[in-house]
Amino acid sequence: MNVPRSAYLHIPFCYKRCFYCDFAVVPVGSKHKQSFDSPNPLIDSYLNLLEREISLTPECEPLSTVYIGGGTPSLLTYQEINFLLNILRQKFGFQPGVEITLEIDPASFNKMELEGYIKSGVNRVSLGAQSFDTNILKEIGRSHDRDDLIQSCSWIREFFEKGELKSWNLDLIQSLPSQDCKSWEDQINQAIRTAVPHLSIYDLSIEPGTAFANWDLLGKLNLPNEESSWQMMRSTSSMLSEAGFARYEISNFSLPGHPSRHNRVYWNGSGWWGFGQGATSAPWGLRFMRPKTFNEYRSWVFQQEQEGIHSSLISSNARPMPLDELLIVGLRRREGVELYSMFRDWGWSKTQCEIYIKSLISKWLPSIQNGLLIQNGFRFYLTDPEGMNLSNEVLVQMMLWWESLPNDAVEPSIS
Ligand code: SF4
Repeated sequence: MNVPRSAYLHIPFCYKRCFYCDFAVVPVGSKHKQSFDSPNPLIDSYLNLLEREISLTPECEPLSTVYIGGGTPSLLTYQEINFLLNILRQKFGFQPGVEITLEIDPASFNKMELEGYIKSGVNRVSLGAQSFDTNILKEIGRSHDRDDLIQSCSWIREFFEKGELKSWNLDLIQSLPSQDCKSWEDQINQAIRTAVPHLSIYDLSIEPGTAFANWDLLGKLNLPNEESSWQMMRSTSSMLSEAGFARYEISNFSLPGHPSRHNRVYWNGSGWWGFGQGATSAPWGLRFMRPKTFNEYRSWVFQQEQEGIHSSLISSNARPMPLDELLIVGLRRREGVELYSMFRDWGWSKTQCEIYIKSLISKWLPSIQNGLLIQNGFRFYLTDPEGMNLSNEVLVQMMLWWESLPNDAVEPSIS
């Protein structure tokens, strides 16, 4: 069950920390760019840790998707990306048609490096655009400007049109400071004009401990109000739908044939390997997280060399993916969740399934009546745009239901 056939590699290095970001990143300075001739010792030692960690992993199936994310993986040279892909290739092998995605940020790579990444095996790139507006990019602490972004898009499009990249994605953030519905619609239009076949659009979220969280407390963030944010979400949905994009997950929109296969692995609750600082693995229905800081991660790798990664899978460090989390990620998908089979897989009897489905439906009834959620037999899915934009209401009711269940029902049964 949930045999891992996907791998995520976390590259934690960034020029600097963006004002809204709470990821496990290591800022290396705004002028830094790794070069093959003068490698950064910190990056070098991290790649060595990754190699050691991967070599400890149990033998497994060939990979069908690989995702190198971060951080800013394009701070690595193409030779280093090639080195990492070769380690995975030798350890697991790649299935024919493997999808290999690299996250890249404008102003952190040039055309020759992009070509090098592609020659190493990368066939999909995800570009951290966030905004086409230089003033907004400054305001959120990004290291690139609009010109860098436009230049990156044109290089990527060139390789895509030649068939050397199978697909590509742009990340955008909506509800940023100083944004209103009109300026957001302009962002969407500019994204469509790049001819990108996949868009990931996230709402700005103010995370504790970030610069934005402090400024927000001091009332210094000029964030759009709820009504404006709601209008932006509606525009996103309708404009992208008109442009031929399908919303296949709450934050992801693709033209036909371009959904991300790797992301589906997470949302479907399938197995994957995660490698690197702060990465999570979910092989065989279990899950474990690596430490979030560089030093702790290094100690953890040394410890694994003594004990073996397999031992941590069966230690208290690993735990099965809880049903409530499977429901949360499942509901994000266009096709939603099929409750009966999910509950049976969780280990509940037929009678338990019937009782718990009934009690969950009673919690979800207002959402169904308000048009946020659709029931089709045992399948439930969010409507677009209302349900997807107000998914929290549905998820809160689900969590209340989960917390009302007896202790023995929420304990996993591992088959
Ligand atoms: S580039 Fe991405 S990962 Fe790095 S600090 Fe900015 S938002 Fe965070």
